[in-house]
Amino acid sequence: MDLCSGLFYLLTGEQYESSRSTRRITFDLFILVISRQPQKPRDEQVLRHLQKPVGYRQRASKNTLSDNPGFAFVPDIGHATKVMKKPNFYSSQGFDRLDRYRDDPAWLESILSSENSRLLPVWRNQHLVTHQHRPVSFPGNRDGGLLALSGELILLGSDPEGVIWLALDISHLEQPEKMLPGREAQSFRDLRIVGPLIDRHRGALLAHARAMTYWHRHHRFCGDCGSPTESTRAGHMRICGNPACQRAHHPRTDPAVIMLIHDGDYCLLGRQPSWPPGMHSTLAGFVEPGESLEDAVAREVSEEAGIRVTDIRYHSSQPWPFPSSIMLGFYARAASTDIQVDGVELESAGWFHRDQLLNSPENEQFHLPRRDSISWRLIETWMHSEQRN
Ligand SMILES: [Zn+2]
Repeated sequence: MDLCSGLFYLLTGEQYESSRSTRRITFDLFILVISRQPQKPRDEQVLRHLQKPVGYRQRASKNTLSDNPGFAFVPDIGHATKVMKKPNFYSSQGFDRLDRYRDDPAWLESILSSENSRLLPVWRNQHLVTHQHRPVSFPGNRDGGLLALSGELILLGSDPEGVIWLALDISHLEQPEKMLPGREAQSFRDLRIVGPLIDRHRGALLAHARAMTYWHRHHRFCGDCGSPTESTRAGHMRICGNPACQRAHHPRTDPAVIMLIHDGDYCLLGRQPSWPPGMHSTLAGFVEPGESLEDAVAREVSEEAGIRVTDIRYHSSQPWPFPSSIMLGFYARAASTDIQVDGVELESAGWFHRDQLLNSPENEQFHLPRRDSISWRLIETWMHSEQRN
């Protein structure tokens, strides 16, 4: 019986099976056992924290097994990364983007005459919603009126029920509500505001439409020669109109890393000056050319808060069309603890105890990020994990 077999039998009383998954479970159990530290009662920890100013944290103990990068993580969050949970808000799981029809103008024309298609109007990054925050769409019928408004038409794709969705950018209109049918009790609203109030499937659809229409409006001219570009491939490409250039431009999304830095029962949260009063969230930043995602995580945390990190682990990603990003979520463990905010991107940052967050009153003095964001997802997962360094 080898070491893994012996530990498995010792911990579970069951026969060890030599499979990769079982070895993984055994290793996790092994790490779980050796990484557990004796814990003080939780109420004592909270009391100790509340006696300190906000942002205070206990200094991490050094030279322990958990400080060794090879043993540092954290079975519970690690488990969360392996058991893929529900997708993040705005992700379009189960949506068929119909790439195979993008070069078929006859098919697209037939869809526009079909009762099985729906058009989503987008006006200057905003979506039409009812006063109950339900997104408004229109039939794809050419006689329905919306297409008569012209504008940039973009094929989004087909939902699991087989309904084909298209976006129509009508940003050229000054007062679009007055030109739409059934305009009572509906208005154009920003997804930043209504996102948390709508269901995730409609949220994904609106996010997709917002990102695509934004890209079209900001790529009207060729980056190579400056000539006007034209939409093609059902709205999924723009071609330079200069015969001597004809450069193809594809929809872009800008990668950004977002990370929860933890140290035992504390995590690092910061505040940007532009955020709503009291909001605290994870740190984030754009990936720069020439660096890996892990490089970007380490750099951003160092630049914004002066903290060094180790054990960088990927969690999940989220489309974030505000205006055109994909957020790549990570966990990382703090390798240093003295915070030095840059004073530019962050106005403040601090170490917050898990129980303080779990019991947060969520008021204007302190609250966590919006519930449709990956930052909330990272914090929520960590808050309810069993992680201890
Ligand atoms: Zn060009």
